[in-house]
Amino acid sequence: MPKSPYNFEKNILGLSSPGMTIDRLPEEWIHVSYEESVDPQVKCICNHVIRYVNRYLNTRTQRMINVGTGCIKKFHLGKCKSAKTLLTKLIIGSRGDYDKIFDLIQYSDENWKTFLETIQNSAISEWDNLAGLNEINEIIKAMSENKIEATKISILEDIVSEIQSRLDKKAELAETHRLLTEKMNRERAQRAEEQRIISEARYREEVARLERQREANKIVEEEKRKACLEELGRRENIRDPITLKRLQREADVRAYNAKKATT
Ligand SMILES: [Zn+2]
Repeated sequence: MPKSPYNFEKNILGLSSPGMTIDRLPEEWIHVSYEESVDPQVKCICNHVIRYVNRYLNTRTQRMINVGTGCIKKFHLGKCKSAKTLLTKLIIGSRGDYDKIFDLIQYSDENWKTFLETIQNSAISEWDNLAGLNEINEIIKAMSENKIEATKISILEDIVSEIQSRLDKKAELAETHRLLTEKMNRERAQRAEEQRIISEARYREEVARLERQREANKIVEEEKRKACLEELGRRENIRDPITLKRLQREADVRAYNAKKATT
């Protein structure tokens, strides 16, 4: 690999605001993403090829750079503000074919393009969380406050509204689901109440039927009892000799009449 004419300090100060010094870098550089690069050309601002890429944005000059983990430690960039949860774990693709950072501005522009493309793709495919929205909004805020190029801001704003509309749709779906569930519960309660009224009416009917049955049985029992008493009375009479004679006579008459009728 050709020896680079650049180094970290010279390069990063070249993309910082005038008068910036190495120990004050966290004043204007913010960490915006961590990416694993599949592009063998991705370079740290110091000019080393890196695989694990931390992307930093200068909120004053709007420049964007890559920094490897070695340079982060060495130059204490861990102190920079960070958009942590959203813009991590991106995989960046291949861009450009350059061996050295010939032109810092071009280097920054390329980083910007890759950064925006990557977060646009992620916003379409993966992001639907509020934390992500907040982080992009933070970046937009930092950029707006520092009069960053409008087109870059508008791209980020598009991403924000894309995520926002997805969140809205999700909320709408949840609301629809909630209303549907409520309606179903109401209907279920209503059916249960109807069922309760029906079974109560059936219960009352059954009680009334049993009551009528009991009354009817009582009448039958009473009649039986009367018949029984009558029978007993009749038997008492049979034991009386006068009645016995009368009954015998009557029976004889019936027999005679029957015989006469047949001859
Ligand atoms: Zn480096």
